[in-house]
Amino acid sequence: MPPPEQSSILTFEGARRVVADHAAQVSCSETETVDLLHSAGRILAEPIIADRDFPPFPRSTRDGYAVRASDLTSLPAKLKVIGEIKAGAVHKEIPPIMNPGETYSIMTGAPVPQGADAVVMVEYTSQKNGLVEITRAVSPQENIVAPGAEANRADLLVDFGTRLTESAIALAASVGKSKLNVFLRPRVAILTTGDEIVPIDSVPGPSQIRNSNTYSLAVQVQQAGGDPILLPIAPDEPRRLRKLIEEGLQSDLLIMTGGVSMGRYDLVEQVLADLQAEFFFTGAKIQPGKPVVFGRAQCGSRSCESGRVARPGGQAPASKNAYSYFFGLPGNPVSTMVTFELFARPMLEALAGMRPYPLTFLHARLKSEIRVKAGLTRFLPAIISGKYEDSHVELVRWQGSGDIAARSRSNCYVVIPSDREHIAPGEWIAVMLR
Ligand code: AMP
Ligand code: MG
Repeated sequence: MPPPEQSSILTFEGARRVVADHAAQVSCSETETVDLLHSAGRILAEPIIADRDFPPFPRSTRDGYAVRASDLTSLPAKLKVIGEIKAGAVHKEIPPIMNPGETYSIMTGAPVPQGADAVVMVEYTSQKNGLVEITRAVSPQENIVAPGAEANRADLLVDFGTRLTESAIALAASVGKSKLNVFLRPRVAILTTGDEIVPIDSVPGPSQIRNSNTYSLAVQVQQAGGDPILLPIAPDEPRRLRKLIEEGLQSDLLIMTGGVSMGRYDLVEQVLADLQAEFFFTGAKIQPGKPVVFGRAQCGSRSCESGRVARPGGQAPASKNAYSYFFGLPGNPVSTMVTFELFARPMLEALAGMRPYPLTFLHARLKSEIRVKAGLTRFLPAIISGKYEDSHVELVRWQGSGDIAARSRSNCYVVIPSDREHIAPGEWIAVMLR
C-alpha cells in the first residue's frame, strides 16, 4: 500500500478535478503530417484558417428566381426572365447584374446577381414566354447567404487541439488542405495483473480466466487517440510485477488493471510505493471502480530521454527526473471500462494534445425505479430505447462489475448521483453513452 499520507479516497467530482489539474500540465510537442483521408480521430496540431470568405459570393440556397423583394409587392407579379445562373457557371460579371422588373432563374449554390436581394422558390412560380409569374412575396435576404456570413477570410475555423471529426475534415478540405499536421499518438502501456489471468489463446484451467481487460483497454486507448503497447500478464508476485511496471513507466502513460483492491495479493500499490511513486488518489467514491488509483512515478532511464511528451511547464522531459502518469484500474472488467472512461481518458487525451472538455450527460426518463444506498456516484449498465422525444432508460440485470455479458447487452450507463437513494419511474436521469 502507499504510505498512509498518500492514501486518499475522493468523491467522483474531486477525482475528476485532480485528473483535470494534471492533464492541464502536460503538453504534446511532436507532430506528424498525415493525408486528410487518414486524419479522422487524430488531434489537430495546426489551426485551420479560412482562405477566403465563406461563402465567397452571395449564395442562393434554393432553386428558383432571383428577385428584388420590392418587385413582389402586388401579387401575382410578372418579371422578365433575362437568363439562367447555374452553380459554377462563368458569367461576364460575377455576380451578374439585374435591373428592376427583371429576374434570373437561379440554382442552389449559384451566385445571386447584383440588384437582386432575395430568391423565390421555384414552387411559387410558373414561367412562360420569357416571363415568370410569381405568387408569393419574399423578405429581403430570404434564401440568400451573404458573402462571409459563415466565416470571413482569415477566421479561425478549427483550432489546434481539436479531434478531427467529419465536419473538421470538411472544413480542412474546403480551405484546400490535402494534408494535416497532427500530434503523435501517446504510447500507452497496458499491464494486466493476476495469477488467475491467462493469455487468450491458451486453454484456461478450471480456476483461470482469459485476459479480456487488455483488449477492451487497447480499444479504448485507440479510440481516445493513444497507441496501445501490450505488456505480458503480470503475476501476483512483487519482483516480476515490479519489472513490468518499470517497463510500462517508460511509455507516456501506464494503465494497469487488477491488483488494486484490498486483497492480500493486490500488490500494485505496494510495488509503486517501493518505486517512490506519488499517489494523487487511491480510490474514488464510485460504483463500479472504487479502488481506482492515479499517480505518477519516475520512469527509469532509457526511453524517457527520448520521451516526446513534454512534462509540466511544457518543457521537454529532463531524463533524470522525468516521470510518467499511471492509473491502477480495478480488474473487474466493467470497472476497468468505466474507470478508463472517467479518469484515464481525459489524461490520455491531454497527452494526445487535445483540449479539455467537460463530461456531459444526456438525459432520459427512467423506466423502472432504482433503489441504492447513498454515498457513491454510480455508473450502471443500462439500455436506452424508444424513439425521438420518447426515450427511456432501464438498468440491465447484471451480476456486478465482472459481468461483461450484461455490459455488452447494455448501450449506456445510467448515472446516479451520490446523494440519491431512490429514483422513481418517469424521472429524468443522466445517461452516459459509451
Ligand atoms: P482484482 O482487481 O485483481 O481483484 O480483480 C478483480 C476481478 O477481475 C477478479 O475476478 C479477476 O479475475 C478479474 N480480472 C482481473 N484482471 C482481469 C483481466 N485482465 N481480464 C478479465 N478479468 C480480470
Ligand atoms: Mg487480482
